Amino acid sequence: MFRGRILTAVLVVAAVAAGVGWRASSAQPTGEELGVYQVTGLTDAAQRKRLSVLGLDIVGHTADTATVVATQGEAEGLRRSGLTSRYQGTAREFYRYPAGRARGYHDYDSALAQLRDQVSRHPAIARLADIGNSFEGRPIPLMKISDNAGADEGEPEVVLTCNIHAREHLTAEMCLHVVDRYLAGYGTDPAITDLVNGRVLWVLPMVNPDGSEYDKDQQGWRKNRESPAVDLNRNFGHQWGCCQGSSADPESSTYRGEQAFSATETRRIRDFVHSRVIGGRQRIAAHIDFHTFGEMVGWPFGYTAAATGPGMSADEARTFQELGQKMAATNGYSAGKDSELYITDGGFDDWMWGEQRIYSYTFEMYPAQGPAGNGGFYPPAEVIDRETSRNDKAVDLLMSYANCVPKVIGKAC
Ligand SMILES: [Zn+2]
Repeated sequence: MFRGRILTAVLVVAAVAAGVGWRASSAQPTGEELGVYQVTGLTDAAQRKRLSVLGLDIVGHTADTATVVATQGEAEGLRRSGLTSRYQGTAREFYRYPAGRARGYHDYDSALAQLRDQVSRHPAIARLADIGNSFEGRPIPLMKISDNAGADEGEPEVVLTCNIHAREHLTAEMCLHVVDRYLAGYGTDPAITDLVNGRVLWVLPMVNPDGSEYDKDQQGWRKNRESPAVDLNRNFGHQWGCCQGSSADPESSTYRGEQAFSATETRRIRDFVHSRVIGGRQRIAAHIDFHTFGEMVGWPFGYTAAATGPGMSADEARTFQELGQKMAATNGYSAGKDSELYITDGGFDDWMWGEQRIYSYTFEMYPAQGPAGNGGFYPPAEVIDRETSRNDKAVDLLMSYANCVPKVIGKAC
């Protein structure tokens, strides 16, 4: 009791010092409620490995500290792991933001309305379709941008996906921003005009629409809305569930599902990507999956710490790194292989590369860190323009290399 009170006092002071409104609570989570824990002392790779094998939902981190969201079972595992952790409050308290923060962000209906409007204004270079319905029956929108958008001209293709994690609403704005910029820039901006003429750009602004709708009231939801809900970014079929980089516990925020592609939305994505194999060749050359937060550019593999190995030659690893660093130089993000911080398996980019040979990157957008009491998932709408246009050059770079990604290290295709 006594210890608990001191801890609460310390945490409240820390939250106030960080300039945030959240107050840590001493009340332990009850029932199925999730708790927030701060894990300290992650000073080396061995310590981070001890954390990563627990399959926790890591919602923020600095060099030696991680903030995690855990079920009660996971919290028990965390205590048994020998790592130093402090309970901070319930996830519901942690994520709750002052009323009004959601204003200025699109929801599913307004995003769809905007895409429809843009297609009607740019019919020659834009087509709106969907990749099928989500679990709850929402069509998952798919925007095609290219010159002669109604024709198949065999051009190199790029895919951008957003909002696979429900609470990462800034990423939907990212995809909508790209659509807006490419459509508005065609015929006025020479660089964009060239890219639209020579490439096919597929944009999927909301690949987990059930989750993002459910999280409109900002409760920190990450997964889809099936029962049990699945972390879509642990449900892809390359080395699925192999390496303690996801959770087998349906209550966990990183639950990988019963099997690879068990979730409706990952099957829709898989089928769309497969549909771009034409004449035995995968047309899609490059991909970015946008997430928040951390300001990082990452690339495969996430399931292993090894830089090269099966499915990743030295040249391929160098290509990923060179283009990843080039893109990061334009937006000021840090850059590194997905596994550098912790192991993840069943990830989207691992499957895109491992099974489809698509140069696939994971971007973690603004902010760089979420201080205690600020999950980092719900920045005010004032940052949308700045933080989405921050990736303009990176997207253009990926588009420009899509005809031969290895040319970035001087290799021919
Ligand atoms: Zn994410």
